[in-house]
Amino acid sequence: MSIILDVIFPRNCAGCGTRDPETGGHLCWDCLSELNLIQAPLCDRCGAPAFGEIHHRYICSACASNPPVYDAARAGVHYDGLAREMLQAFKYHEAIWLADELTRILYAAYLAHYDGLECDAVACVPLFSTRRRERGFNQAGMLAAGLARLISKPLIRNALKRVRPTGTQTRLTAAERVVNVKGAFRVRWDKWLEARRILLVDDIMTTGATVNECARALRAAGAAAVYVLTVARG
Ligand SMILES: [Zn+2]
Ligand SMILES: [Zn+2]
Repeated sequence: MSIILDVIFPRNCAGCGTRDPETGGHLCWDCLSELNLIQAPLCDRCGAPAFGEIHHRYICSACASNPPVYDAARAGVHYDGLAREMLQAFKYHEAIWLADELTRILYAAYLAHYDGLECDAVACVPLFSTRRRERGFNQAGMLAAGLARLISKPLIRNALKRVRPTGTQTRLTAAERVVNVKGAFRVRWDKWLEARRILLVDDIMTTGATVNECARALRAAGAAAVYVLTVARG
C-alpha cells in the first residue's frame, strides 16, 4: 500500500510513506535500518551467510562439493520484508523510481563486501528479448548502470544475451533451475570481455543458477574473473 502511495507522492518513503525522507532518497532512516543486511561470516565463494563465529576463510558445503563458475557472489540484503516489497514493485510494477534506492543498497554492498576488488567492467544479467519488450526495461541493467557510475567503471551494455526464454524460476527446485538456464546465455562483444574481470549485477540471487550460467558464458568468452553482486539474496 505504501509503495502505491509513492506513485502519487514520489518523494515519500517507500516503506512507511513519510514525506520527504531526510535521507534524500526513497527510504527514511527508520525504514533503511529495517533492511536485513547481509553480514559476515559468509561463504567466501557464494556469499551464503554462515552461523556462529568464523574467523578463517570459510567455504560452504555446497560450494565445496560443487564449486560455482563465478569467483565470488555477494548481496546487500536478505530478500524479505521491505527489500522484497521494493524489488517486486521495481520488477513487476514498473516502480522505476526505486532504482536509485536499490542502486544505493547495491553500492553499500559493494563497499562492504568488495572494497578494493579489482574489476574492469560492469555487466548485467539479461532478460529475454520479448520479456524485455513487455516490461520496457531490464531492471538489472538499470541497477548495473547506476553502480557502474558510482564505482567509475565502464558498463558493458548487453554483454550477455538470453538466447531462449527461461520463464520464471520461482517454482523450480535448485536442480531444475540449473537445467532450466543451461546454455541460455550467449556473449556479445567478446573482444571487450577477453581478459577482463567482470562485475556481474542482478537484482536477486536465489540458488545462483542464473548468475552461474552467465559466468560460464563470460568465462568461455575469455573473461578473467566474474564477481557477482545482487541487491538481495533469497
Ligand atoms: Zn520510512
Ligand atoms: Zn558457498
